[in-house]
Amino acid sequence: MELQDLLQELEPFNARLVAVSKTHPPAKVMTLYDQGQRDFGENKVQELVDKQAQMPADIRWHMIGHLQTNKVKYIAGFVHLIHAVDSLKLLKEINKRAAQAERVIDVMLQVKIAEEDSKFGLSMEDVRTLLESGTWQQFPHVRIVGLMGMATFTDDQEQVSQEFHSLKNFFEELKRTHFADRDYFKELSMGMSGDYQLALEAGSTIVRVGSLLFGARNY
Ligand SMILES: *Cc1c(COP(=O)(O)O)cnc(C)c1O
Repeated sequence: MELQDLLQELEPFNARLVAVSKTHPPAKVMTLYDQGQRDFGENKVQELVDKQAQMPADIRWHMIGHLQTNKVKYIAGFVHLIHAVDSLKLLKEINKRAAQAERVIDVMLQVKIAEEDSKFGLSMEDVRTLLESGTWQQFPHVRIVGLMGMATFTDDQEQVSQEFHSLKNFFEELKRTHFADRDYFKELSMGMSGDYQLALEAGSTIVRVGSLLFGARNY
């Protein structure tokens, strides 16, 4: 799909695009950069670091995959948004490394919404517990700007739609209960190549689209 056509679809929803460039070489990624795209997403720290070093400095790099605590230090100096925070320990480490880099890093909490048992992410109950502990408020170098979720990989559109709506409802709940006076809590990262339209209809503000733009990945 052409970049401009996708952007046109996002416009009425006021949603942003993170172009997921994982496994694709910089030269290929540059074709989208040359068309004006600036937000790119990677799911592995090493690849993110390598591409950031080789590509233009005005790219906003998104870490969309599972992030190990011991690897935060490699990306803390430049990462724009970390989508998949799934523990208080990770949040604490991001705060520490962001402080060292004299930055405030925006993050989202990854919430499990899929039926299948995914390895990563927090249950809604885990998120409530994490926020109620209040510890996160002692981390001045991280800002929790929203939630991220991945729907079940299925052809059942009704199910996918329900899962996205459940994340949207949870987001609204947290906005009331924990972020009422924090207007930066406004992002919902949901939707990929196969389900971004359903995600937009459910209130997504950031879609993460890879293969639809770059073609199939060759691992
Ligand atoms: C790879 C990936 C995507 C993009 O997937 P496509 O189906 O290629 O659009 C989105 N989000 C995450 C977390 C990913 O790892």
